[in-house]
Amino acid sequence: MPPMPGPEHVAVPLTTTIDGERRRTARDLPDVVRCGVIDAVYVHVPFCFHKCHYCDFYSFVDRQDRQGVFVDRLIEEMTAAAHGWSAPLDSIFVGGGTPTLLAPPHWKRLLASMRSVLPLSTSLEFTVEANPETVTPELAEVLAAGGVNRASIGAQSFEPRHLQTLERWHDPASVVRAAGILREAGIDNINLDLIFGIPGQRLEEWYDDLDAALALGPSHLSCYGLTYEANTAMTRRLEAGAFERIDDALEAEMYGAARTRLAAAGFEQYEISNWARRAGNGIRACRHNLAYWRSRNWWPLGPSASGHVEGWRWKNVPRLGDYLDASPWPPIGDVEHLDDDGQVGERLMLGLRLNEGIAAAELKMLLARGARGGQRRAAFERHTTSGLLEWNGDRLRLTPRGQLLADTVLAEVV
Ligand code: SF4
Repeated sequence: MPPMPGPEHVAVPLTTTIDGERRRTARDLPDVVRCGVIDAVYVHVPFCFHKCHYCDFYSFVDRQDRQGVFVDRLIEEMTAAAHGWSAPLDSIFVGGGTPTLLAPPHWKRLLASMRSVLPLSTSLEFTVEANPETVTPELAEVLAAGGVNRASIGAQSFEPRHLQTLERWHDPASVVRAAGILREAGIDNINLDLIFGIPGQRLEEWYDDLDAALALGPSHLSCYGLTYEANTAMTRRLEAGAFERIDDALEAEMYGAARTRLAAAGFEQYEISNWARRAGNGIRACRHNLAYWRSRNWWPLGPSASGHVEGWRWKNVPRLGDYLDASPWPPIGDVEHLDDDGQVGERLMLGLRLNEGIAAAELKMLLARGARGGQRRAAFERHTTSGLLEWNGDRLRLTPRGQLLADTVLAEVV
């Protein structure tokens, strides 16, 4: 997910002392959080077999000696957190890291525990992120048998030169192979992640990537412009002059190319970087993404996973050692509670990322709340006049040009 400006937060001070240290665990979250109605669960698996140069997620090279204890710990955390949850979960998303690096026996145990501990909706969407090199028939069978019904494959590019620039350790053929194996096992709801704006990438090559992805028949595509995150190898190489960023005009053209090519192939854009095929009365949008952008309640499991419940946000500490040592509740940090104005800003910021935008009635209500209604109203009027926002029936949304400049527009309404 690309970086987004954040609303005003109220930092919540630490209140608990554990082992003589002022540390807080998820057990210390207020009742309104621990007893909230949880819609979705995010699980973070921190292992990878190599660190890609652009990646700033919490992940590290797996020594294969901690998978078992990690899964034991995850089950323990999940059991403690889910005690008392009764509303059926709509979505589980296992990301990372590389979840498909976990060996099949560990997956079997984890999935069996999830089925026995978590209240699952009969229409649950259960997504697992997959690195193409790590998908095997045995693993796919275990995932499908355990209830996984959606896979998100990190394809990124189908051009070996660009994969090399990103330091991705897979070849394009492995994406085709992984999609085939997953389908064979019965997981046919497949997302492919693509990256554009890679140094040296030409517009025609990006079209080729889109076409190669479409040829695999996915139900969902996420297309992100390459971002240079602080403290990544990619950013250090950029700063050392190893390559140049592609220029903004070309990146904007690539974004436009995604819009037109994917629309022509029957995909609907539902968020700035996400497209899905229509199925029945709706589109196969990622429920985990929607839970995030619609500010629903999701619970985090695993080190560095972030959660949101009833306006509270927190993050499990991104250190596997600390996570493994704690029991059963994980140490947490970055605990924040949005004040009323912050909640308004966040709803505006997240809601406008979606193509459905925000309904006039809700917008009116939001602008009447919070301390900065007048300021926000003025920003909306200015951006509607300048063509970055538009009314689509009774809903306000970003225009295609506004989506390109989303960070600027949204920063003003937060
Ligand atoms: S596989 Fe994914 S999580 Fe792991 S290093 Fe690469 S981009 Fe990061």
